[in-house]
Amino acid sequence: MAEIQSTPAQLLATPVQFLKGVGPQRAELLNRLGLHAARDVLFYFPRDYQDFTDQREVGQLEEGKLQSVRGVIEEVDFRTTASGGCVMGMLVRSPTGYLRGLWFNQPHLRDKYAQGQKVLLSGKPKYEGLVWQMHHPRVETLDAEEEEPLGLILPVYPLTEGLQQWHVRKIVRGALEAYLSLLDEVFPEEFRRAHDLLPIEEALPQIHFPDNRESILRAKRRFVYQELFVLQLALAIKRRQQQDERKAPALEATAKIDARIRRLFPFELTEGQKKAIAEISADMAGPAPMNRLLQGDVGSGKTLVAVYAMLLAVAHGHQAALMAPTEVLARQHAQTLDKLLSASQVRRAQLTGGMTAAQREAILQLAAAGEVDIVVGTQAIIQEDVSFAKLGLVVIDEQHKFGVRQRAVLKHSGLDPHYLVMTATPIPRTVAMTLFGDLDASTLKDFPPGRQKVHTYLAGDERREKWWDFFRKKLREGRQGYVIAPLVEESERAGTSSSQVASLEETFEALANGELADFRLGLIHGRLRPDEKDAIMDDFRRGEIQVLASTSVVEVGVDVANATLMTIESGERFGLAQLHQLRGRISRGKFPGFCCVFGNPQTEESIARLKAFVASTDGFELAETDFKIRGPGDLFGTKQHGLPPLRIANLLLDGDILQEARRDAQEFVKSDPGLVQSQHTLLKRMMFVRYGKALDLGDVG
Ligand code: ADP
Ligand code: MG
Repeated sequence: MAEIQSTPAQLLATPVQFLKGVGPQRAELLNRLGLHAARDVLFYFPRDYQDFTDQREVGQLEEGKLQSVRGVIEEVDFRTTASGGCVMGMLVRSPTGYLRGLWFNQPHLRDKYAQGQKVLLSGKPKYEGLVWQMHHPRVETLDAEEEEPLGLILPVYPLTEGLQQWHVRKIVRGALEAYLSLLDEVFPEEFRRAHDLLPIEEALPQIHFPDNRESILRAKRRFVYQELFVLQLALAIKRRQQQDERKAPALEATAKIDARIRRLFPFELTEGQKKAIAEISADMAGPAPMNRLLQGDVGSGKTLVAVYAMLLAVAHGHQAALMAPTEVLARQHAQTLDKLLSASQVRRAQLTGGMTAAQREAILQLAAAGEVDIVVGTQAIIQEDVSFAKLGLVVIDEQHKFGVRQRAVLKHSGLDPHYLVMTATPIPRTVAMTLFGDLDASTLKDFPPGRQKVHTYLAGDERREKWWDFFRKKLREGRQGYVIAPLVEESERAGTSSSQVASLEETFEALANGELADFRLGLIHGRLRPDEKDAIMDDFRRGEIQVLASTSVVEVGVDVANATLMTIESGERFGLAQLHQLRGRISRGKFPGFCCVFGNPQTEESIARLKAFVASTDGFELAETDFKIRGPGDLFGTKQHGLPPLRIANLLLDGDILQEARRDAQEFVKSDPGLVQSQHTLLKRMMFVRYGKALDLGDVG
């Protein structure tokens, strides 16, 4: 029978089961790690390395330095101690003497090792009782069938139950031998050299089995760059497609329109607002749809910028939609517009989930007929049956609350609308660049004048009395305040690990009958009906309610300038961005704010979070800290934005390479917009495979 010729692509798709050292059982374990084909194994990057560079014979050991010794297990002993602990000992025979490993109180090691196994022990040795010992050494079980050492710096792969480190090493080693030569270099030769990238046939073996520390870095650089470059390429192409294919109405802010809008504003705009408005006007004046992110710390005045953009659309006879994450906030925006536009003819409507079917129907008809200019609402705006006659602009407030992928696509006829998305949860630069590579960004760095500082305290229970004294004093001076608790009622506690978590209802009861018995209190949370929430917020705004006890429903956007006091209960239950948002409620007027967090942080992370919160009132700084505390995982999780996770790049550490890759990708797309040049085919294919679907790049590839 003639041998069937397979293409390299087919060979690289060989199921893992048929790789050297695998078989059906191990294949299943590999599948569990997401490894299905030979190609996956080749690109299964180590998560760390073990450095056995300093390997010695027992006779040459030195005290106190990290060294490794190779040998065979002669004996393993395990005993429990009188105090209830345990000790495991391991005697390892090497050609020039014995080494003893000792572990204290690690019962799980008990049956892990057996006599006769070949091992490599690493640690700092000590000469004790006439024998060399290592306490808690790292043990590397060596492949029993093969004497050949794999290298001095060994890769450490993520594993799954039933799979040993040395299994994976061997499988990867085998895959490299069999398949490395089939891989194509995706980078054009000249490009690769110009950007100081190792060729694939060098980089791949070195990332798995490096010759030395230096070569790990060089190999890693290539793959990190490649990953980020391909992502940035996809984003650049996406952006181009949007600009090329989509047409939006050109809405120029003529001098006359500009003056008419500004006349409505009750105060002088801040420099940041002016600049953002200029950037937005420039975008909206052109026929390409604006796609802009407006970042600005809590209270920096984003709403006014959005109002400007909406009125600009309306001035040209187009409609604008403003979407907010909560009904409370949607309603507040509607009220802001009512105030600013009381004397104008701009037709406005609200669309929220809490409306009756008839109310909703009426508004849908107005929108579809073009008989309303501005629609303010919640997610209810993006439902199936909503469509606009002449939509010119969509504004999404607090967009981090919606998630990136959910960049609301509103139904409309004719041209595409311009998009303005706003957030007060500033995204660290590197992440912003990655996620919003297809967005332009404006940033409000300053605050409206006269803004007062918020003083923040982290307190234990012993300070409560003093704090409430102060709280009452300020209330008597005419200020208002919030009391925030994480749970609505006690029954919610069932699902939480701690009985210490404060519930809102209990907190409210206790205050109403105790510390704040002399004041008018209100209670608001997400379970109330929309009209109940509205009534309570209105009472609070008017000062009828002096203290509002709330869950995090007031977290985003609520703007009551006279409220300057905030007590946060069980602060450890809130995220850093959320705490900062909460505090933002009391930094809105001419009086200084005072925020006291009570809490019972148990983990290192929650302690760090609360400390950071007290130490800074700068949202951008806090976002960076949060990012560092939580790591990039949460932010770059697939959930949030629908992109496949990064495999090797770490946005926290690889910011420099990211910038480089972004710049290069933009250049690249400029020089070959459709990636049609033959030397770009492979990169193009890689980009489509990885991001074509997630970014909806069409099926050009
Ligand atoms: P955020 O950026 O958090 O959405 P807002 O738009 O709610 O902030 O603005 C916060 C407060 O600052 C509001 O009460 C608003 O009326 C006020 N404000 C906005 N711009 C200015 C300005 N240029 N001068 C004075 N006050 C302003
Ligand atoms: Mg806001």
